[in-house]
Amino acid sequence: MLNIIIMGPPGAGKGTQSELIIKNYGIPHISTGDMFREAAINKTTLGLEAKAFMDRGELVPDEVTIGIVRERLSKDDCAKGFLLDGFPRTLVQAEALKTLLNEINRPITSVINLAVNEKLLIDRISSRRVCPKCGASYNLLTKTSKKEGICDNCQGELILRDDDRPESFKVRLEAYKAKTLPLVEYYKKEGLLSEVDGLASIEEVFKSIQEILSKGK
Ligand code: AMP
Repeated sequence: MLNIIIMGPPGAGKGTQSELIIKNYGIPHISTGDMFREAAINKTTLGLEAKAFMDRGELVPDEVTIGIVRERLSKDDCAKGFLLDGFPRTLVQAEALKTLLNEINRPITSVINLAVNEKLLIDRISSRRVCPKCGASYNLLTKTSKKEGICDNCQGELILRDDDRPESFKVRLEAYKAKTLPLVEYYKKEGLLSEVDGLASIEEVFKSIQEILSKGK
């Protein structure tokens, strides 16, 4: 059973590695960022509330975020395992997740932390491009689409996310350091944490992740 959390600062490559993990291990990808973005595009109440926080690079309130994850984890497809990407992001969320997973008897089996040097993150994030239609992520330097500016999967037009603009990105990085970084210690204490060098190539990072998961941790 693989009940995985992937962590790391914004721009560390969580989305890219998540795509490889779900393809390889056949488990659902639970990305709170993707869920909020989809809700925002569909202009649901949740989406409109979340968008205001997201555009400023701030975290969406814990109660809202925990609520959507609780609902998603109760779906049948999570019974065979799951990959949480972008959640938990605060200690309150981590505690709520622990309680929730104990209730349904599906404890976390591994937490993978993509460690990245902060200065290099800014370069990486400003060259990130995403497809607003299907959520695929590209990078002008490290992971280009076949046709410039066009998504390989669905032919959507690639964009720079509003919250990847330097002003918002700095706020996100500060939010990460203040609220999410403490989770590295939290999961280390729980004996669940494995660290990977997020600056290695996409293939090397994925190879390290596969090694960690094959050890069941
Ligand atoms: P991401 O795509 O994971 O970088 O998420 C984009 C934005 O969605 C974040 O900057 C937050 O505004 C919001 N968000 C995603 N996940 C969470 C979370 N676990 N807690 C609070 N806000 C979140």
